[in-house]
Amino acid sequence: MTNQAIFPSTRSAGLDRLQNFLPYAAQDYAQGRNRDRGPEQPAAVSKLSPYIRYRMISEKEILAQVFAVHGPEAAQKFIEEILWRTYWKGWLELHPSLWEFYLDERDSDKQFVDCKILQQAETGQTGIEGFDDWAIELTTTGYLHNHARMWFASIWIFTLQLPWTLGADFFLRHLVDADVASNTLSWRWVAGLHTRGKSYLATADNIFRHTGGRFNPKGLVSSTIKINDRWYGNQVRLSDLTQPNASLPTILLVHHDDLNPEPKLFNNYNIVLVILINEEELSWGEKARLFIKGAINDTKLRIDDHYKCPVFLEDKLDATNLLEAARSTGVSQIITQVAPIGPIATKLALVGSILTQNDIDLIKVRRKWDDCLWPHAKTSFFKFKEHISPILLEDSFLK
Ligand SMILES: Cc1cc2nc3c(=O)[nH]c(=O)nc-3n(C[C@H](O)[C@H](O)[C@H](O)COP(=O)(O)OP(=O)(O)OC[C@H]3O[C@@H](n4cnc5c(N)ncnc54)[C@H](O)[C@@H]3O)c2cc1C
Repeated sequence: MTNQAIFPSTRSAGLDRLQNFLPYAAQDYAQGRNRDRGPEQPAAVSKLSPYIRYRMISEKEILAQVFAVHGPEAAQKFIEEILWRTYWKGWLELHPSLWEFYLDERDSDKQFVDCKILQQAETGQTGIEGFDDWAIELTTTGYLHNHARMWFASIWIFTLQLPWTLGADFFLRHLVDADVASNTLSWRWVAGLHTRGKSYLATADNIFRHTGGRFNPKGLVSSTIKINDRWYGNQVRLSDLTQPNASLPTILLVHHDDLNPEPKLFNNYNIVLVILINEEELSWGEKARLFIKGAINDTKLRIDDHYKCPVFLEDKLDATNLLEAARSTGVSQIITQVAPIGPIATKLALVGSILTQNDIDLIKVRRKWDDCLWPHAKTSFFKFKEHISPILLEDSFLK
């Protein structure tokens, strides 16, 4: 099945999926979430990840609905999984040097890796049952079940002894939900680099049990080894953001790290033009690009209905185009939702500094969810959860 068939790229398809999943978000999810019976088989998981990744549906919207149907206790497992995403995003924002380090390390690992083993692993020709099937499933559909991602990463790192950086790169190039924080940090977690000394070992027994007997791989290592980590970055504070001036005519810039610029968020601003960016180089692989292209077109249609101003599509996040748009509309302020660490944030920083030199402010707006929860992702997920639980239960937080 193609990824378009699995993930139609509209917000309404995501919302339908959420509605269909909601009744099963409590006990059914908790009991069945680890089972992966295969791509064509029913699963207990939601398959909401691309909609969440590109923020066509927000974590807040999802939790509000889950709380409304099940309350915070019964659906705890599902709520926790949604929060893992928030935790990874927050953790990377507080440790930004890891991303640049990862990119350098990946490029250097490419030079020294055994190309034959790498190629066999990526094309599903290692002879390891399950592993080969997941490589093919990933490259064909753009999706893997969470447990399969964990098994795959563990076998990649510990049995095949390939660098984790290249496994993370392989996933980024093929996942529809390819996400800098969730992917990089999950690979590091499996390798034992996130919770130091605690790595994840895939065993044949566990794979056999949770795939309903589909796979019983031979030759997996029986213990993990210590992977050296050369990253020693510091923790930083979440950056303070400038408040936009609500009285100024403003351009709203929309990118695919947040494809739900609902007018409610920008009610207070005088938006005179909306620009949607679809630059292919700012995403990873073909499947993600295809999804994003559809999602951006869908966002444009939704925005056209709501904003009473022109809505343009641009295929480059480019300072010259933005300057021209600002001059032709007489605008000195452009606002955009915060892009978390990754290619869009890097490009926005560059574009922002050129705009500043030309007296145009590019001002980032952070969602309340991220603003309140990310600062707590300093250490472990357990501590994060402990700190944010009271916030989630505040009356107004999920409204
Ligand atoms: C090695 C590895 C790489 C990964 N790479 C990515 C990635 O690039 N992008 C991505 O979105 N997720 C990634 N994950 C997390 C997780 O596997 C997927 O989010 C999940 O499988 C998506 O399927 P689902 O929507 O059916 O999940 P469900 O189980 O239905 O969970 C609902 C939502 O919660 C979030 N979520 C669930 N589990 C996790 C988790 N462990 N970490 C972070 N968020 C989670 C996702 O947004 C998901 O859509 C990775 C996990 C591993 C082990």
